[in-house]
Amino acid sequence: MKISNFFAVDERLEKLDGEIRNRCTPLFEAIDRTTEYNQLKVLSAFIQNGASEAAMTGSTGYGYDDRGREILEHIMAQAMGAEDALIRHQFVSGTHTLTVALFGVLRPGDTILCLTGRPYDTILGVFGIDRKTDGSLADFGVRYEEVPLTESGVPDETAIREKLKTKSYKMAYIQRSRGYSTRPSLTVEVIEKLCGIVKEQSPQTIVMVDNCYGEFTEEREPCEVGADLVAGSLIKNPGGGIAPTGGYIAGKHALVEQCAARMTCPGVGREVGATLGHTRELTMGLFSAPHVVGEALKTAVYAAALFEELGFAVTPRFDEKRGDIIQCVTLGTREGLIAFCKGMQSGAPMDSFVSPEPAPMPGYDDDVIMAAGAFTLGASIELSADGPLRPPFAAWMQGGLHFHSAHAGVLLAAQKMLEAGEITVK
Ligand SMILES: *Cc1c(COP(=O)(O)O)cnc(C)c1O
Repeated sequence: MKISNFFAVDERLEKLDGEIRNRCTPLFEAIDRTTEYNQLKVLSAFIQNGASEAAMTGSTGYGYDDRGREILEHIMAQAMGAEDALIRHQFVSGTHTLTVALFGVLRPGDTILCLTGRPYDTILGVFGIDRKTDGSLADFGVRYEEVPLTESGVPDETAIREKLKTKSYKMAYIQRSRGYSTRPSLTVEVIEKLCGIVKEQSPQTIVMVDNCYGEFTEEREPCEVGADLVAGSLIKNPGGGIAPTGGYIAGKHALVEQCAARMTCPGVGREVGATLGHTRELTMGLFSAPHVVGEALKTAVYAAALFEELGFAVTPRFDEKRGDIIQCVTLGTREGLIAFCKGMQSGAPMDSFVSPEPAPMPGYDDDVIMAAGAFTLGASIELSADGPLRPPFAAWMQGGLHFHSAHAGVLLAAQKMLEAGEITVK
């Protein structure tokens, strides 16, 4: 296969591409095994819960007795290894979904303990830490404490044990993905260990996991290893690139019911919520999700191997165990980061003619550049990359609906850097 049949890629880069793909082959085989396991897990959930085209027509108005919505929620629960689940297009983002789960379960006077250091940026406002936000958990009298990560960026088990001895926490909070930090993502094995520590010290404490970017990257999900509640976004992994918006919450039945009361109204809960014809997209997206996550993982592995070979620091390394779909590439210079994003955008299926420029963003001190040529606005299960314009000029990239197209986007990022004189290829 010659990519140069379709794209202007330097001959040396094309040769290197072949070598890198060979290097990735054993890792791709391992990803395929995880994909197949999860695909069968999801297929059997479809079959056992009686998924049916006739049930997916959708509801209007209050949305009472929406059979397709109920079937989809049963499938999602089974896919997440949980007792119960909510999956709705009315969740506007991952942050909104996590917010509903937190407010659903926590009460004034409760204290939450975050086991994985500082949470993802948008969650800070929900907790009401670092900056004041109206209507935060802090405003409602929920206290927040955290255990910082160790120097190597992993959860500090000793400190967590000590903290759990000091008082009774209503909830222990775990963030699976690295988000925009340089710490490693948590493997399910680590989540299992943390759940064990919490339950041993304090059996009544609810363990909640921010599952964003982690779904289907491994064979087990957090609820299968002791987590009580998880939540995530449908424009990331579990939407399979097909869900146009939405989120999900899964976990213990009683907790999911509490979240449902907050999602709509106390006393009404999950019985309402018109699906407006979106059930088909959410159902198809969930069905494709294990495969699409596999494609995104392959894209991340390939990008790590290629850019490491080109002399850049990458985390995770191409052959490291992954707990999410995010790849960080440290490009070292302002010009390098800009060329990387421009190249990636030029290989996107949508808006390839757009040239991204660094610009100020609310909440960031430095300008940010973003490459995203996606079918769904902001969807990060589709190939995308961004980074703040400050040293070490790192790009966080993720997604890729199909390795065979996302691979071109990554290679074109390298091509653009070559043209800008930011890399040399032998
Ligand atoms: C994306 C993400 C969120 C929030 O999702 P949005 O859809 O951007 O609101 C929360 N936590 C983590 C770790 C994420 O990656």
